Amino acid sequence: MDTTKSTTKTLPSFLLTTLLLLFLSTSPSTASPFARPSSSPDQQLILENGHQYHVQKPISYSGYKLFKADVEETLVPVVDSLDVEAGVEVWSRRKDRRSRKYEFDLLTPPSAEMEVRQVFSEYNLRYQEVIGDLQSAINMEGKDDEFFSWNRPAHPMTWEKYHSLEDMNQYMDYLGAEYPHLVTIHEIGHSSENRTLRLAKVSTGPNKPAIFIDGGMHAREWVSLSTALYILHRLVEFSWEEPQLLDRFDWYIIPAANPDGYEYTRNHDRLWRKTRSHNPDAPFCHGVDANRNFGYKWFTGGSSDQPCSSIYAGPAPFSEPETRAIRDFLIQHKNQIKVYLALHAYSQMWMLPYSFTGEVRPQNYDDLYNVSLRAVTAINNATGTQYRLGGTAELLYPASGTSGDYAHSLGIPYAFNVELRDRGRYGFILPKEQIEPTGYEMFQGLKALMESIHQKLQKPVLS
Ligand SMILES: [Zn+2]
Repeated sequence: MDTTKSTTKTLPSFLLTTLLLLFLSTSPSTASPFARPSSSPDQQLILENGHQYHVQKPISYSGYKLFKADVEETLVPVVDSLDVEAGVEVWSRRKDRRSRKYEFDLLTPPSAEMEVRQVFSEYNLRYQEVIGDLQSAINMEGKDDEFFSWNRPAHPMTWEKYHSLEDMNQYMDYLGAEYPHLVTIHEIGHSSENRTLRLAKVSTGPNKPAIFIDGGMHAREWVSLSTALYILHRLVEFSWEEPQLLDRFDWYIIPAANPDGYEYTRNHDRLWRKTRSHNPDAPFCHGVDANRNFGYKWFTGGSSDQPCSSIYAGPAPFSEPETRAIRDFLIQHKNQIKVYLALHAYSQMWMLPYSFTGEVRPQNYDDLYNVSLRAVTAINNATGTQYRLGGTAELLYPASGTSGDYAHSLGIPYAFNVELRDRGRYGFILPKEQIEPTGYEMFQGLKALMESIHQKLQKPVLS
């Protein structure tokens, strides 16, 4: 999910009036990070790959509630300002095109609950409490049932729980070893904490157009990693089922584009979003929003220059080794790659470029829309799940420096940003029972998408 509010350094005056309502509460001076709960000062020493990490004990979200509220456009600044005033975090803010209302998901610490309820009643907002205690939801999510592993001794991967990076890496290695004619595993770079950025290439031969898929760019969006791996699983372990997918395309899949952040969400703060890079100018605020760090229209809206913000764009475009690695790979393969799919969560939206603005549409917008319509229809046919389709900035809000916009700027014609399940019942804490259905329906959508794109690529380009 590309969350919350935005800050910009300067607003052109002609835009000011229109943006004022949306961004009223977000000038850099007032931008404050979500008041994270404090954790015990005790430190755990973690050893990994010969590196030492001092990691605090896990943060508790005990007593935190998730509220959903319907908000008239004119009241958006009031609800937005709750994050600064009361330490609330806006998890999601979705626009309803028909009613012109916004649906807000608000994570509310116990200290702010009274104020939030007061605002709801003062402005007569319709709302409901969808999660009564976030920590209980987190505990349920991570509960490790016993699995029978006798039938798959070679790797620990399942679709029944959220796995560690280590498990995911083992699974990718397993696929590379077991299906060497199909899968090769590439290390395309390293993270700030020196974890490898692993990419799986699935290919049956040369001279094919390719699709690139990124997952896990936002650390807390766990289902995006599992979905990327599920797609890999279906392509490789069930390759005979849909041979056309491999006959026609090469597949590049990076399931964990932000491995440091992901491990941090597993060990310390379940709601961490950014990378974990160290910023000497703000030693207590780690990380950059990787999906605001790509170097196309960087920092032109929907991102922050405050290092503590969860949508911090970084000190410069491509300041993060994770985004640089993807950039370099894309540049190297930009003539081959025709499709870019960025997997995020949540909201169930299939979004088209551009993210940075809703004012301008790409030249091939109609093409993008038509192939995407096939995809969301196939998803709906598969499981009944509904994905909304439209421009990113139209469905949510502008966000600059995203991987999808960058890919499109390189000349990759079909770039999409998909927000997976759900629509705010659980938000980021999606129960593990939904891992497989989320992967399954996305794979069905992808099949329809690639069929449609294949047909379009066959047609000669009219000049
Ligand atoms: Zn995201």
